[in-house]
Amino acid sequence: MTHPILHKVSDPLKQIAFIFFALSSLTASAQSMYWQQRITCEMEIDFDHIHHQYVGSQRLIYQNNSPDTLRRMFYHLYPNAFQKGSEMDAWRMRLPDGDSRIANGLYGIKPDEEGHLHIRTLTMNGEALQFVENRTILEVWLASPIPPGQSALFDMTFVGQVPKQTRRSGRFNAEGVDYSMSQWFPKICNYDQKGWHADPYILREFYGTWGDYDVIIHIDSSFTLGASGYLQNPQSVGHGYEDPSLPLTVPEGKQLTWHFIAPNVHDFVWAADPDYTHTRKVMQDGTEFHFFYLKTKDNEKAWASLPAYVDSALQFINVTYGQYPYRQYSIIQGGDGGMEYPMATLITGNRGLRSLVGVMAHELMHSWYQMILGTNESLYPWMDEGFTTYASSEVKSRLFPSNDPLFIHNGSYQGYFGLVRSGLEEPLTTHADFYLSEFSYGNSAYNKGCIFLHQLGYIIGKEALDRTLLQYYSTWQFKHPTPDDFIRIAENVSGQELDWYNELWVNTTRTIDYAIDTAWTSKEGVHVLLSQKGTFPMPIDLAIQSAENGVTRLTIPLDIQRGEKVIDRYFTPDIVAPDWPWAFETYELILPGKWTKNVEITIDPSQRLADIDRQNNRYFIEE
Ligand SMILES: [Zn+2]
Repeated sequence: MTHPILHKVSDPLKQIAFIFFALSSLTASAQSMYWQQRITCEMEIDFDHIHHQYVGSQRLIYQNNSPDTLRRMFYHLYPNAFQKGSEMDAWRMRLPDGDSRIANGLYGIKPDEEGHLHIRTLTMNGEALQFVENRTILEVWLASPIPPGQSALFDMTFVGQVPKQTRRSGRFNAEGVDYSMSQWFPKICNYDQKGWHADPYILREFYGTWGDYDVIIHIDSSFTLGASGYLQNPQSVGHGYEDPSLPLTVPEGKQLTWHFIAPNVHDFVWAADPDYTHTRKVMQDGTEFHFFYLKTKDNEKAWASLPAYVDSALQFINVTYGQYPYRQYSIIQGGDGGMEYPMATLITGNRGLRSLVGVMAHELMHSWYQMILGTNESLYPWMDEGFTTYASSEVKSRLFPSNDPLFIHNGSYQGYFGLVRSGLEEPLTTHADFYLSEFSYGNSAYNKGCIFLHQLGYIIGKEALDRTLLQYYSTWQFKHPTPDDFIRIAENVSGQELDWYNELWVNTTRTIDYAIDTAWTSKEGVHVLLSQKGTFPMPIDLAIQSAENGVTRLTIPLDIQRGEKVIDRYFTPDIVAPDWPWAFETYELILPGKWTKNVEITIDPSQRLADIDRQNNRYFIEE
């Protein structure tokens, strides 16, 4: 933007108006500095189900919205990881607790069971490009640079082989699904404020460029496909997609052509099996859900009950975390466990109802935390896995009400405490690929990430946390938010300063431990002496209770909060005590009144504080 021209204003009212104008245009300028790349990706593939191979073409329009001139490009070639001796294989073997699905899967894999993705030709604006396949990354030298604000057209042809299913993608998964086609095509690496993210695939996380996908798949007519995106030709494929009130126009012959369009996504998945049962249900919010599963007498009841659970989950999610923005979502049996993709998930399907609903809730929640709020999962795995764990636990507690809604995250706390005790903890800033154990990665991303949110509710109040999540969604949807972007929203919503929380919870492995050293009663009231035994300062919720005086809820804000929570569904304070300056080790509090009977004092009755020693959080003053 151009600077406003400074000029003298004599009228004080005008001066105020001018300052206000200058401030608001500064804010607008800070927002307009954000940029992200954009693609249009058209692909067409011929799929050979006899040899599990495919040949394809890709036409990519790359819009360089960055302020930088691009001279190189990188693509992911994920399937090349599924080979003996791949970088993924090597790293899994080095981890003390490497995923057994990989170690066992790649051991002794035969050449025709490996995954492959190779580039045959690549041009930019019609000119042939120099490129090198470096295992799972394609390195490309551009014939001419792409200046800021310009776009370029890339035409590519490629060949692929679907690996024997080991992890996430592949053929013939453990439950007999023929093709789980995730991470199957040459996918442009994302370029953002931190530059290129050309991470080799060692099995962890993903990151992609926002764009519109248009995908045509030619495949044997026996297969039913589930995929990201909207099917464009339902009457000419049938397989449960057709409108029964219209005539089918399925062509004669062995091959069918499936045409999908997925607007504004950052990946594209599909799966295929000749034996899928395909059902549909339009939910109350208008979203059409597609279900694809291999029906057995053991799983059919659970799958038949699933749509009703999706419907009630969706109602809660839409109002709590933001409205689902696409018209369609597909729950597809495939893969191993559960994995999220745009407008779809691949999950294993031979489960009881509770397990099926549980995995659905988790993967569906990823539509918010990763598929719409497109964080860089590799850099901030806790922002997608942790936020998803938090939200899906909240969803599950609505679907299967437990007695105490506050303790639904207890599993995450226990996982985190176990991580602390193990001595294997690494900071949440660790790039997902570089965690030194699955144990450390899993507990950090899922559990410590979940606690980041639940504990933020302790600091700013549950209501402010809920508003923060909605504001985060509306501000950052279809973008690439970072931890700072999230914490700025929480600060704006709560009116508190929260940089210290982000700094210590995310960037360090410091731990929280507060204690009640002693307490007594006198003519003045109840005296409580608190101390900070840990290395991570936090505000303190304190309940002081006796039979005759009832409960008094106090909150002791930290000075660096520059504020305090006012309302909190789980602990609204009756009294805001004076600040605890964070560097002080101890704090003395006097609650005036006449206290004669037994008094019980409790730090953090709602148990959202990740206090690693809760033994010293209670104190009884006996009569
Ligand atoms: Zn997840």
